[in-house]
Amino acid sequence: MEEKLAILNAKLKEIKNLQAAESVLGWDQQVFMPPGGAVARAEQLSTLSKVAHELFIADEIGVLLSDLAGAGFPYDSDEASLIRVVRRDYDKARKLPTALVAELSRTFSLGQQIWTQARANKDFAHFQDILAKIVDLNIQVAEAYGYEDCLYDALLDQFEPGMKTAEVNRVFGELKVELVPLVQAIVERVGRADDSVLKQDFDETAQWDFGMMPLKAIGFDLERGRQDKSVHPFTINFSINDVRITTRVSRDTFPSALFSTLHEGGHALYEQNGDPSLEGSFLAGGTSLGVHESQSRLWENVVGRSREFWQFYYPQLQEFFPTQLQDTSLNQFYRAINRVEPSFIRVEADEVTYNLHIFLRFELEQDLLEQRLKVADLPEAWNAKMQASLGLTPPDDALGVLQDIHWSGGMMGYFPTYTLGNVLSLQFYQQTLQDVPDLPEQFSRGEFGAPLAWFKDKIHRHGRKFTANELVRRVTGAARIEAQPYLAYIKRKYTEIYGL
Ligand code: ZN
Repeated sequence: MEEKLAILNAKLKEIKNLQAAESVLGWDQQVFMPPGGAVARAEQLSTLSKVAHELFIADEIGVLLSDLAGAGFPYDSDEASLIRVVRRDYDKARKLPTALVAELSRTFSLGQQIWTQARANKDFAHFQDILAKIVDLNIQVAEAYGYEDCLYDALLDQFEPGMKTAEVNRVFGELKVELVPLVQAIVERVGRADDSVLKQDFDETAQWDFGMMPLKAIGFDLERGRQDKSVHPFTINFSINDVRITTRVSRDTFPSALFSTLHEGGHALYEQNGDPSLEGSFLAGGTSLGVHESQSRLWENVVGRSREFWQFYYPQLQEFFPTQLQDTSLNQFYRAINRVEPSFIRVEADEVTYNLHIFLRFELEQDLLEQRLKVADLPEAWNAKMQASLGLTPPDDALGVLQDIHWSGGMMGYFPTYTLGNVLSLQFYQQTLQDVPDLPEQFSRGEFGAPLAWFKDKIHRHGRKFTANELVRRVTGAARIEAQPYLAYIKRKYTEIYGL
């Protein structure tokens, strides 16, 4: 068994190395590559991904996994976890027929091109036919993977292993009942939080330098990572010891670069703090998009938009930007960065309305995939849901149904993981606070080390060993994902800010 495990590990290591090379090329593409490199880079990436895929789906790997399945390693061990996780990945990779994989890749890259034009021209009709094909291909993918309860389960499982649509429905239902009326109540008092102070001229270098201070303070290790600039901020890693993040700095609005740094920094802490023994293994990295997002949103929102965080950092921020901030109190600044206002664009939404954007997409995806809704009727359905939940009707499709890249690239079943991340961040953090009750006071003194130590021990070091639901049980003792800690946090915070 030891020998078979060593053979499996050696084969997987080669695949991981190819995937890491792919990541380096992808990172370079978004950070440094001149536009002229695009065509050659697409071919280089496609070759690497094809070779890695072929090595992975080889019969020999399946035989090794079957032989090792009966080895009797304890469930929590690295060995049993590796066999379990690789078996899941392997079965998925083998279930898609080669012809379908090729069709997916062609359609999704064409889909992104057509979507880019359609969004620029605010022209949904231009995107409609390819989207219909993408929906159809996603149905074929779900059928190929197989499912027990509903088709959406198979797609969700790609991003959130083990999660069921019914469970997401339960959690989202509980959130929706409370958040929709909360947003309505806030809208009536929207004037209580004025954010005009954030929309002044803020020097880009000063913004960058300021953002590096909390990034280091929360524990991002610059010996094993770096930050660069890109159009769309992201986190990527080539090793536990080489984790890259990017941010985007805009002169005319202050907090977006900082919050993007904290967000990606949260993702990066998860990647940097896997157990060193997982280096180069299929067990390295985050276990699901929802758990990953729980880490980024914790630092961006729960900590980064807290009063205690700014009790420490606001005087320093005022020194960076004396003319812009001299007449703004800490309390006014705190309200400005926590302003809630219904808006059209998901990625610009505040902490409270953000989830409403997700519910809409989750419901529409299910309607499309279950063929209750025709693609041609999608813009109308989108606008009706926007009006019902946020009281807004988009003036055009660029501000509505065409705003996100996900569907054009074939990703359906992805959106719910954003809100699951919000919910998980508080379910975990509630437990952190039980173990370290004076955490907020620590933040107000500029001490940010305790959460990383806690999360490293409870979550980061395990890599992909346990699913989101397993982590919830292990870390919090709760039987399942619960919306209540998140709702309690939102209600407490915004009741105070808006005097509800
Ligand atoms: Zn994220």
